[in-house]
Amino acid sequence: MMFSPVHRFRDIERKPEYLHPEKCIPPPRLGSLGTMWFIRDGCGIACAVITWLLVVYADFVVLFVMLIPSRNYIYSVINGIVFNILAFLALASHFRAMLTDPGAVPKGNATKEFIESLQLKPGQVVYKCPKCCSIKPDRAHHCSVCKRCIRKMDHHCPWVNNCVGENNQKYFVLFTMYIALISLHALIMVGFHFLYCFEEDWTECSSFTPPTTVILLILLCFEALLFLIFTSVMFGTQVHSICTDETGIERLKNENPTWERTLNWAGMKAAFGGAFSPNWFNPFSGLSRSPSLGLSGEASGITVRCSEETTSSEEART
Ligand SMILES: [Zn+2]
Ligand SMILES: [Zn+2]
Repeated sequence: MMFSPVHRFRDIERKPEYLHPEKCIPPPRLGSLGTMWFIRDGCGIACAVITWLLVVYADFVVLFVMLIPSRNYIYSVINGIVFNILAFLALASHFRAMLTDPGAVPKGNATKEFIESLQLKPGQVVYKCPKCCSIKPDRAHHCSVCKRCIRKMDHHCPWVNNCVGENNQKYFVLFTMYIALISLHALIMVGFHFLYCFEEDWTECSSFTPPTTVILLILLCFEALLFLIFTSVMFGTQVHSICTDETGIERLKNENPTWERTLNWAGMKAAFGGAFSPNWFNPFSGLSRSPSLGLSGEASGITVRCSEETTSSEEART
């Protein structure tokens, strides 16, 4: 006997036990850390620590190999200040991207009481995530690393040990931008330093021995070039995602937009939290927005569908 999807969903609708409210226990209260968001993922934590160490290494070479031994005082002071401000902003953006809740949907809220409290119009469809027992808003996806459903999830980035979603995309974009800028700045300084050392005596251009100096500079060159390419591609992709209002997962799945798109400048304003201002570049300024539930509508009867998305967040891992 054939059942049309409508019949099957009607069945689900008649059986509230399908929702397993007894399994949907709210998550345990957080301890003394309060509401701080932090993903306990070994690989992600290791990648985040590597990121900081790479920035510290670059800063060390810039300061102690190139700028401090230089006899051009003004050149050293200006470049030292610019590089350190950019490096500080990169690390601050990294911390904000890592420690900001990317837009997690409350865990275990797929209870009958909650669905009733939503006061859905007849015909609305709500999706339930089978893994975290939550009612999934439109465009939310389950991340297997964060073990949560994330609103407008773009991808899970191990370098910031967090998902990139609605609430922390700004910090992620700033992080890629500042890393690209310090990489470019370091490359330019290495170029000038090599020119200077070729013209002058090699023993005079650094406080380290010439072989050590060359090795430290070449390693910095590799690091800066690699990260300049990686972060500028990521920055471009993110800005493109924001301007087309399509997340990385939606692009991968080639989804037809069911949402009303916020394009170009309006998309940038939405992602960066308001009209253009210097705060767009400030990783310390927050985003003021009230999260919408964003549930989708369809014809006849409230329907709860169980969505299966085991692969999407895996595919989107970079
Ligand atoms: Zn989920
Ligand atoms: Zn995640």
